[in-house]
Amino acid sequence: MSPALNADLHSHSTRSDGTLSPARLARRAHDNGVQLWALTDHDELGGIDEAAAAARDCGLRFVAGVEISVSVAEQTVHVVGLGVDPADAALHAGLQQVRAGREQRARRIAAELERHVALDDAYAGAVRLAGNPALLSRTHFARYLVERRVCASTHEVFTRFLTPGKPGYVEHDWATLRDAVRWIRGAGGHAVIAHPARYHFTSTEEWALFESFKELGGAAVEIVTSSHGHGDQRKYADIATEFGLLASRGSDFHSPQESRCDLGRLPPLPAGLTPVWELFA
Ligand code: AMP
Ligand code: MN
Ligand code: MN
Ligand code: MN
Repeated sequence: MSPALNADLHSHSTRSDGTLSPARLARRAHDNGVQLWALTDHDELGGIDEAAAAARDCGLRFVAGVEISVSVAEQTVHVVGLGVDPADAALHAGLQQVRAGREQRARRIAAELERHVALDDAYAGAVRLAGNPALLSRTHFARYLVERRVCASTHEVFTRFLTPGKPGYVEHDWATLRDAVRWIRGAGGHAVIAHPARYHFTSTEEWALFESFKELGGAAVEIVTSSHGHGDQRKYADIATEFGLLASRGSDFHSPQESRCDLGRLPPLPAGLTPVWELFA
């Protein structure tokens, strides 16, 4: 498949913290000219069947995906799995274990928030928006605080409350990098480091992350994604080349109201990289 293929291999539905159903996402991807699409909900595969069926109905090529939350050197790193078998038992068990931590974490986030803003029902409010305590993410708290007019935008909630060092942020242990890559590969998929420019590693820590990822059998790095500028694309293109990793492209679309970049509306991969979609040829 051509490097110029309009591939969008990172997006979220209502099965995690997106606002559109898997079927609506499939139609939107198709309408936006996407030629190869992956649904990659956080720690969750529950939207895959609906996404696959809707993609089939509109003639859109679909790849089953997931975005696994991982802890590395006291930070959260996201590892996207592409082309996974959604019925794989070990992947299911692993993801279920990761999701199980979300409910307790959310109770701690709610308690922290309630200490700092005039709300006493942050947990219930966020659960209502998430639909399921196991899927609760910071995004649902952000939306609830906007709904209650504590902040004007979800961006403001993250900046003031939900990021490391801010009063509503709580530390949490997610999966290990080793387990996440093992679950993805065991389910026949390919592991991708998502939006690497969003982490705050020292250059030594970042190098170590890519070294372990490669050693564990990781396949690719997200180069073109909504949170990356041109400089980020260049930097991670060099890293992909250095480590012999393939290149991925994905909008990380969550919502027409909140996302900066719509499905499929991304620049092409920089020249000279091998696209991860060659694996799906
Ligand atoms: P969680 O998995 O609960 O930690 O939530 C992570 C999600 O929060 C990410 O996948 C993004 O959708 C969203 N997020 C993280 N940081 C920000 C930010 N600075 N602004 C807006 N959304 C963010
Ligand atoms: Mn998200
Ligand atoms: Mn992510
Ligand atoms: Mn994402």
